[in-house]
Amino acid sequence: MTESDEPILVTRPLMPKLENYNRYLEDIWVSKWLSNGGAKHRELEARLKEYIDAPNISLFNNGTTALMTAVQSLRLQGEVITTPFTFPATTHVLAWNNITPVFCDIDPIRLTIDPEKIERLITAKTTAILGVHVYGVPCHVDEIQDIADRHGLRVIYDGAHSFTTVHNGRPIADYGDITMFSFHPTKLFHTGEGGALVFNDSNLKQRIEYLKNFGIKNEEEVLLPGINGKMGELQAAMGLSVLPLVKEEQGLRSEIRKIYTDALGEVKGITIIKVPENTTSSEQYFCICIDEVEFGESRDDIYDRLKASNIMARKYFSPLVSEYPCYSSLASASRKYLPQANRITKNVLCLPFYGGLSQYDINRVINLVLLRK
Ligand SMILES: *Cc1c(COP(=O)(O)O)cnc(C)c1O
Repeated sequence: MTESDEPILVTRPLMPKLENYNRYLEDIWVSKWLSNGGAKHRELEARLKEYIDAPNISLFNNGTTALMTAVQSLRLQGEVITTPFTFPATTHVLAWNNITPVFCDIDPIRLTIDPEKIERLITAKTTAILGVHVYGVPCHVDEIQDIADRHGLRVIYDGAHSFTTVHNGRPIADYGDITMFSFHPTKLFHTGEGGALVFNDSNLKQRIEYLKNFGIKNEEEVLLPGINGKMGELQAAMGLSVLPLVKEEQGLRSEIRKIYTDALGEVKGITIIKVPENTTSSEQYFCICIDEVEFGESRDDIYDRLKASNIMARKYFSPLVSEYPCYSSLASASRKYLPQANRITKNVLCLPFYGGLSQYDINRVINLVLLRK
C-alpha cells in the first residue's frame, strides 16, 4: 500500500535519462554557447519542424511569450474575440498587447469557441479570433476560417494542448494564421519551459525572429520594440532528450484512456471529452464532465473525495477567465452571454493521466470517482 502515500498529480513531466541529457550538456560545455540560436536550438527547431510537419517554426522561452509575439507579429489591436474557457495566459496576452478581449461562449461538446456565436460579437474594432484547442480537441477550424475570411480577420490558435494533433488529414497548426504550442513541463512534449509558434506564411518568420530578440537586426540596427522570447540551449537540449520519448508516452496514455473510458464511459451523468472524428488525440489530458443531477453528485464532490485520498485531479478550466476581477466588468464577460461556459466550468474534471500511472492507481481513481456518498 506504499503507493497510496505518494500524492498522485494530474500529470507528471516526461523525464529523459539523465545520461542522455548530459550528452547534450557536454556539447554545450564545449561550445560555451548558451542561448541566441545555438546548435541545440537549431537542431531542435529542425527536428520539431519535421516531427509536426510545420512549414515554419520559431522556438520561444515559453508559450505565453510566443503568443504575445504572435499577436505583435500580426499587428493586432482593438478587440479580439476569444474563449473564456482557457488558461489565464490566453487572455492575458491580449491585455498585455493593449487589446480588449471579447468573450464568446463555447460549444458544449468540444468545449472550444462556438462559431455560431462569433459573428454577433464582431465590431469595427475586431481584428482577430483567438481560439483554444482545449485538451487537444480542435476548434471548429473551417467555420472559424470562413467567418474570418468574410470579415477580414486574422485567426490565432492557442494549441498548448494539441502537440502532434492531426485534424482532417492536416496538422493542427495548418489551420489559422499562427498556432502556439507550449513546452511547459506539464505539457506532453516539454523543454523544461518553452514554446513555439508555427505558421504557414514564410514572410512572418523574419518579423517573429526580430520580435523575439528585442527587435535586433544587427549590431547597428534595432527595427522593432521586441521582447526577449528566446529559447536557450539548456531548454533546447531538454527538448532533444524528451522528443524521442513522446510516441511511447502517447501509446501508454492511450491505453489508460481506454481503461478510463471502459469504466466511466457508460456511467449515467458522466461524459468523457473526446476528440471528434478524423482527429488524432494529443493525449494531453483525460477529462470528464459531470452532470450533477444525473450523476447524483457534483464535480466538486468527486474532486474533494479524490483529494482526501491524496489524488489531485484538476478543475481545468475553473474559474472562467471572464470571472477574473481584471475582466469581469467587460460587457462580454456577463454570465448571460456565456451560459455554456458557465455551466461547463462547474462540471469539468481532468483525471490523473500519464504513462507512469500504475494499474493499481488507475483503479483507485476509477473507484473513488464512482464511490458516491
Ligand atoms: C500551458 C498553457 C499556456 C501557457 O504556456 P506556458 O508555456 O506555460 O507559457 C497557455 N495556454 C494554455 C491553454 C495552456 O495550457
